[in-house]
Amino acid sequence: MNILITAGPTREAIDPVRYIGNRSSGRMGAALVAAGLSRGHRVTAILGPVEFHLPDGAMRIDVESAREMYDAVMTEFPTNDLLIMAAAVADYRPKVSHAHKLDRTEGRTIELEPTEDIVAAAGKIKRPNQCTVGFSLEASGDLDRARRKMIQKNLDLMVYNPLETMNSISVEATLLWPDGRSERLARQAKEGFARILIERAVAMIK
Ligand code: C5P
Repeated sequence: MNILITAGPTREAIDPVRYIGNRSSGRMGAALVAAGLSRGHRVTAILGPVEFHLPDGAMRIDVESAREMYDAVMTEFPTNDLLIMAAAVADYRPKVSHAHKLDRTEGRTIELEPTEDIVAAAGKIKRPNQCTVGFSLEASGDLDRARRKMIQKNLDLMVYNPLETMNSISVEATLLWPDGRSERLARQAKEGFARILIERAVAMIK
């Protein structure tokens, strides 16, 4: 199977020096890439700025902004069976990205505009034999919010995980399906969780 995995944050340039971004280590993405490869799948990773070492055998596409990630996903998704969108995409970007470094007196107000919703865009061009999987990082056990996003973005599987997952080595996730099924997984290392997620996602396509 051909699996496309996005991971890491995106950076939205304010000027050549500053950016708006998310706190994301990309660790979950690295675990998903390793899990996909270990099951014999062909893996393509689209990565925002992350430091981790990608296991040998995956194709790697580096991007910086949400727009670049959107372009890469739209190019790669048609030749993949599965998209797992583990990236922490910035929700907003500056309307204007300045070519020069702003002086401290210039940059007090930054007007923002929403970025592309990448996984929702993939959901719109999805063929019947393709699946999309999203992650929903929510505070305070708000599973309904994760379910609403799953429907809005036309996902086949949504991973709900609490805020504490961010930058942590472990994860306590609940898997949600559009037909109402859910599976609460025990707290575990991201590597073990990634193997389960790949298994569940691949099973939906077979
Ligand atoms: O940020 P949000 O909670 O909406 O993220 C849910 C899912 O949507 C995640 O899988 C994330 O990668 C994806 N997403 C996206 N494009 C965005 C924002 C989020 O694909 N601009």
